[in-house]
Amino acid sequence: MYSLIIKQGKRIDGALIDILIKDGKIEAVGPELACNQQAEKWIDLKGEVYVSAGWIDSHAHCFVESPIYFDDPDLAGAAGGVTSLVDAGSVGADDIDKFYQLTQKSQTNVFSLLNISRIGIIAQNELSDMNNIDETCFQQAIERHEGFIVGMKARMSKSVVGDNGIAPLIKAKQMQKKHRLPLMVHIGNNPPNIDEIADLLTRGDIITHCFNGKPNRILDNDGNLKPSIARALARGVILDIGHGGESFSFNVAEQAMRIGTYPDIISSDIYHRNRVNGPVYSLAFVMTKFLCMGFSAEKILRCVTEKAADLLALPAKGYLKPGFDADITLFDLKEERTELTDAEGEQRVGTHRFVPIAAIIGGKKIIHAEGESEHAIDL
Ligand SMILES: [Zn+2]
Repeated sequence: MYSLIIKQGKRIDGALIDILIKDGKIEAVGPELACNQQAEKWIDLKGEVYVSAGWIDSHAHCFVESPIYFDDPDLAGAAGGVTSLVDAGSVGADDIDKFYQLTQKSQTNVFSLLNISRIGIIAQNELSDMNNIDETCFQQAIERHEGFIVGMKARMSKSVVGDNGIAPLIKAKQMQKKHRLPLMVHIGNNPPNIDEIADLLTRGDIITHCFNGKPNRILDNDGNLKPSIARALARGVILDIGHGGESFSFNVAEQAMRIGTYPDIISSDIYHRNRVNGPVYSLAFVMTKFLCMGFSAEKILRCVTEKAADLLALPAKGYLKPGFDADITLFDLKEERTELTDAEGEQRVGTHRFVPIAAIIGGKKIIHAEGESEHAIDL
């Protein structure tokens, strides 16, 4: 007896599949598996609704007690069809216990990239005092929260590091040697200069806000990749979108993709203010911007499922395959004129958009997305 069977879901390649779920895990996926089976609950998608592995937002902010970048995990996550949120450095070692406790009440899976500053983002300048980088506290937090802390975060821009320049990143790379967690580095206004940052990064490290439009960007004035970025990408450094309120430019993204530089991960940098007032609104909306720029729906979905799970080493996430967690997103690709604005105020008009319909988390929790779909699915 299965706990849940999803019948006739449409994969993005058009194939119709049934998904059999038991004990929170996907047991089987394939065409016409549902007949003669028994389940406590059925969802019949009638071949009309798209189904994918649960969407993962790899750069979000969902510590409700954060004074600046707060949000409710279920509003930033499940309500937008997102089954897992990775909080990118809202908290450091000082608040990680409280953050962990709070997230246990939410439906959405939450993971943390621990800020290398023990105080986290309680102000904008968490790395302006090197004493905030306490290696012992950091190490102990990681040991206490194995599985919850999946990486580390260092925000390397002028407003954050003050007069410390590149020093916090040098320290972060030293700390990383002990536990080998992925390191996400935010780029923004300089100093430190993007070349100094890129040259320190190694395989698997993640540059977030990769297509920001600030002067300290990945492209030079001729629209080519800065040599330091080209070298970093050749070493296996990862590019993450991290749209946010100030960190995504259509012009930069279009030019980067024109010269063959694509994002590895598409994430929102969502928090209450940019979710409600824009320009982020939701991960689906950020995904729609890539659709508008001609990135295929298949590739976009891979950036928020398989690649996000692999690059952040989230175990049992990111794939619609037997043995993986039953985290599933139901969605629509709606043909509709959609006005899209980046963080620079530039506009584009899309013809299709991703519309989340529901997030299914651990095969049990089924959360209707806040949005309108033409498909009346009985959940
Ligand atoms: Zn952020």
